[in-house]
Amino acid sequence: MDTMEKLRILTDAAKYDVACTSSGVDRAGVKGQLGSAAACGICHSFASDGRCISLLKVLMSNACAYDCAYCLNRRSNDTPRTTFRPRELADLTISFYRRNYIEGLFLSSAVVGTPDYTCELMLQTLYILRREYRFGGYIHVKAIPGADEALIRELGLLADRMSVNIELPSNDSLKRLAPQKTKESILAPMTRIRDGIRENAHDLVKYRSAPQFVPGGQSTQMIIGATPESDRRILQLTEGLYKKYSLKRVFYSAYIPLVEDRNLPALNTAPPLLREHRLYQADWLLRFYGFTAGEILDDAHPDFNPVLDPKCNWAVNHPEEFPVEVNRAPYEKLLRVPGIGVLSAKRIVRARRETKLDFDGLKRIGVVLKRASYFITCQGKSASRIQTDNPAVLMGILRDRGLPQGGFQPEMPEQLSLFTPTKEDGVKCLTGQL
Ligand code: SF4
Repeated sequence: MDTMEKLRILTDAAKYDVACTSSGVDRAGVKGQLGSAAACGICHSFASDGRCISLLKVLMSNACAYDCAYCLNRRSNDTPRTTFRPRELADLTISFYRRNYIEGLFLSSAVVGTPDYTCELMLQTLYILRREYRFGGYIHVKAIPGADEALIRELGLLADRMSVNIELPSNDSLKRLAPQKTKESILAPMTRIRDGIRENAHDLVKYRSAPQFVPGGQSTQMIIGATPESDRRILQLTEGLYKKYSLKRVFYSAYIPLVEDRNLPALNTAPPLLREHRLYQADWLLRFYGFTAGEILDDAHPDFNPVLDPKCNWAVNHPEEFPVEVNRAPYEKLLRVPGIGVLSAKRIVRARRETKLDFDGLKRIGVVLKRASYFITCQGKSASRIQTDNPAVLMGILRDRGLPQGGFQPEMPEQLSLFTPTKEDGVKCLTGQL
């Protein structure tokens, strides 16, 4: 098989991997070396149809020894198999970089023989790139669960970001659908990477020239909708991962049924895109808005409201917290008002040192008043005559968003895309300002 055919197969096989949006690494070009890495997000990949992208997202191999039921690359699936040689992939990456097709590499792999052997292939590729080509561009590499600690450490010294896919939200689901993987084999490299990052931070303070270990941090990816766990369970797991493993990001991937299996949703089941979208919104609330998983969803409400985003849903269900007086409320309380994002909360705190804010001022600051007005007062005045404990709040929000006021309709579009149903939703998708 020639290199282009391998590339076609192995970029196509990598397209369901979503665990990368941002390098988080800022490295200027150095004389005598090739490339640099920008801290701003790099989130595209090299598609098999040749579209211009920023990262070459590719598998080392799709010849997997494992048989995870949900995966197209699983051993029992009848699909063309191939594996890059390390030099072949390193040469390809460099030639794409020199042609300005890509800014970096996102390398994952199926398990070729054993996790250790797979890691060795990836390690050789990264070694050629970093040491022979002196490539300074961004590299994200997936750690293979079950690989030796020493190999994970070596990979971490060459990569900018690493990730270990958590795959499924519970141990039971893992046993049923990915029997060759165990919770322990997934968490062990995650622990190793976390500890390596911490030790490295310590070393860098002590010896400024210490080599960097995974400077862009680690992330993970979870498949949503292939197994029966509730949104609450997934969010609790996410919260635990952020706390325990200091992850940069948890990525969610709506399950797309591509294989027939009695333990999986039927082939014609639509991917749960709205659920994936709600998880990303709740994820922002965990990381930037001071919410806990238990506040967003509880025993009585284990799944997201399909009509309202999680912050709005929380606010509607907690009328006792409102209204919030924007001229006095602490930053943490402002953050909980629907329509006030992190940026506008900071601007409010800054602006009110100089002046008393009114509704026009809030609008100029960037507050989405059509949503916030139900939950705030400005100098004691409310812009909405509806009280927050009135069900009319919910109806008003739905009306403003152009959604049916009788509740969720099954025929409603599932995914909130960048362009529909409202421009405001598009902005929220991009900025996480809820
Ligand atoms: S180990 Fe990875 S590539 Fe192999 S079958 Fe499982 S999910 Fe697919």
